[in-house]
Amino acid sequence: MLDLSLFPPSARVDGEDLLIGGCSLRAIAERFGTPAFVVDEGSLRERAREYRTAMTSRYPRAAVCFAVKSFPSVSMIRVLVSEGLGCDVVGAGELRMALAAGADPATVVMHGNAKSNADIAAALDAGIGYIVVDGFDDIDRIERLAGPGAAVPVLLRVSPGIDAHTHQAMATGGSASKFGVSVDQAPAAISRIRAGGVADLRGLHAHIGSQITSLAQFEAEVAALAALGERFDVYNLGGGLGVRYEKADTTPTIAEYAQALVDAVRRHLGGGVEVIVEPGRSLVAPMAVTVYRVVTVKRNARTHVAVDGGMGDNLEHSLYGQCFSPAVIGRWDGPAQLADLVGRHCESGDVITPDVPLADPRIGDLIAVPVTGAYCFTMGNNYNAALRPPVIYCADGAARLGVRRETLDDLLAREMPVNGA
Ligand SMILES: *Cc1c(COP(=O)(O)O)cnc(C)c1O
Repeated sequence: MLDLSLFPPSARVDGEDLLIGGCSLRAIAERFGTPAFVVDEGSLRERAREYRTAMTSRYPRAAVCFAVKSFPSVSMIRVLVSEGLGCDVVGAGELRMALAAGADPATVVMHGNAKSNADIAAALDAGIGYIVVDGFDDIDRIERLAGPGAAVPVLLRVSPGIDAHTHQAMATGGSASKFGVSVDQAPAAISRIRAGGVADLRGLHAHIGSQITSLAQFEAEVAALAALGERFDVYNLGGGLGVRYEKADTTPTIAEYAQALVDAVRRHLGGGVEVIVEPGRSLVAPMAVTVYRVVTVKRNARTHVAVDGGMGDNLEHSLYGQCFSPAVIGRWDGPAQLADLVGRHCESGDVITPDVPLADPRIGDLIAVPVTGAYCFTMGNNYNAALRPPVIYCADGAARLGVRRETLDDLLAREMPVNGA
């Protein structure tokens, strides 16, 4: 029988079908086509509440901001904002999405290592909660754009010199990071912000990386910020908690993560300071699956099971070597052979996940890949003129379209007419 532990909490086997939020994945594939992102909306809402409660029940002066980059859709932000989360955005584009979703600007934090004038102007214009100063040039820009007396609330991003144990591309807190200022430079940056008299330095920000499974690394992050000496009113500790992608993976629970952070804050910073966390992956990754249809099966030296998506909707394997645990819908008990689950794009690296057991997949079968709710929709692209998939929210047996599938007309929409054509 299918191991449902990696699927969203509402997943149920129903004969030869799989239900998410009470909705049949076979019916969804018929109605909306494949590939498609299917979100368990009830469980997503519950997880957002779980995050808030985990933090605020242990530490009342805590806020949870959704890291919009992990699933940058107005539909997703709207759900999470309605559950009381703030938003963490990079740049004017994500800010625009958050505002379109109804986020209260006061609950929005903007970070980014290369914020343009337009990004900062948009943040000032909206009056967001905090701009995260990533370096000296940000201070100049804020001063120039906001003008004297503006008292723009800012946090200073510090790279705490922690080489997070995760894929190199996902580690962001080391001393050679492009993000933030180093611990050594922090005192100069703090003095510079205060000397300018435009930005109002409320606190510090750090984010050490993504898919982190050791709580000790988050404790070290808090300790490194405390070691700067001065106590600020606000500490934004970023996101980064890891999730299970494969059966053997283990990760701390949200409650264990919250407890470790709160303990570290009390120990190193004393109580009383405001604490912000910015989960992305750990909030949304387990709450969605991607549904594909098998296009062809090749049995050569290896078995390649090719589906109607791939690098266009999931870059996790090609960028970070992430592996997934797919299931052939309806073939729950059949003997499984090892196969590479691959996409339709023109690269050998177009692998969704290599070397996985798949039960006798045949043309036309549906394959569900769980834990695709973070960074897959984000990095969707038009490689080979792929049409980016829809996002479908399922709850209480009803399926709701949050983002429609791209069309061929969408693909041509930005092309300018050529003379004579
Ligand atoms: C990416 C990012 C996050 C979210 O990270 P996850 O690993 O998805 O939780 C939070 N804060 C900042 C500053 C980020 O860059």
